Amino acid sequence: MSCQVCGRQVPTARVTLMQNIGMLVARQSKTLQGDVCRPCGLRAFKSMTLTTLFLGWWGVISLVLTPVFLIGNLVAWSSLRALPASDESNIQSG
Ligand SMILES: [Zn+2]
Repeated sequence: MSCQVCGRQVPTARVTLMQNIGMLVARQSKTLQGDVCRPCGLRAFKSMTLTTLFLGWWGVISLVLTPVFLIGNLVAWSSLRALPASDESNIQSG
């Protein structure tokens, strides 16, 4: 299995990461779905989740969607965390 972001042959997880930007009357959302490795997945999680956290709430529909997106991202995050960290030599238990 290779990562669909960086293309490396490393352990990947199938995740769905979502980002929402609320603009009062409109909204803009972005989805990343696919097999990604741990560093790519965590990087995407960080930027998409932070964007949603700060810009996601500005609208009626967005107010409902934002917590759903954030919870979905946390689920993806936990499966990314479960992947072996190839670049780190120390093994973390827990
Ligand atoms: Zn990658």
